[in-house]
Amino acid sequence: MKIAAAAREPEDMQTYECPLCDYTGFFSPRFGSSEIRLDGYCPKCSSLERQRHIALWIRGTPVTSFGRTLHFAPEKCLFDAVSVNSTSVTGADITEGRADLVLNIEAMELLDRSFDTIICNHVLEHVDDKKALAEIFRVLSFGGRAVITVPIVPTWEHSFEKEGITRPSDRHLYFGQRDHVRFFGWDLIDRIKAAGFSLTTIPVTGDEAAKHSINRDHVIFLAEKPVVQDES
Ligand SMILES: [Zn+2]
Repeated sequence: MKIAAAAREPEDMQTYECPLCDYTGFFSPRFGSSEIRLDGYCPKCSSLERQRHIALWIRGTPVTSFGRTLHFAPEKCLFDAVSVNSTSVTGADITEGRADLVLNIEAMELLDRSFDTIICNHVLEHVDDKKALAEIFRVLSFGGRAVITVPIVPTWEHSFEKEGITRPSDRHLYFGQRDHVRFFGWDLIDRIKAAGFSLTTIPVTGDEAAKHSINRDHVIFLAEKPVVQDES
């Protein structure tokens, strides 16, 4: 961390505001598995860009209540922001001991329509997204919503998947992380819609990016299950 911070001239250092913990000051470098973001981390609550973007969206959304919220791979720093808008929040993770429920997002042991909101932040790049999106759709109530973010390559129309890439080191090379199975392109929109959702994409604004240190190409995919569903 010190190396990256010291590599910058003082006039290139900026202060930012964290919408999750209200910290204001220098942010810390984030050493990802395949990239370094110089001001990626809030040093107080450890929020990342995607979590700050979601916090800002929650703050500004006209949705008055998320109802019963299921939060996959729940991030501690997001908990309060999600809780404020929810009647209940249940954490879920495929690994035991990390959350309230142990759930495989591709085959959730949950009743149909048992949650009103699902937070799914950087999960779909780890799994079979077709199965996961079908399950998210099934578990959501009519009119419910999924808040989805993924690593996306903004110049790619199509997601990049490749058979035979199974070794962790190859996945790192091809997909950016040892446990990723693809890099998404913009066809994620079609994949979400194919599961039955209507979709709104929420970009980060120029002001939000500058003030809260969020990648300018970051997008929240807000997938909404229709209010009236013909199940015949
Ligand atoms: Zn923070």
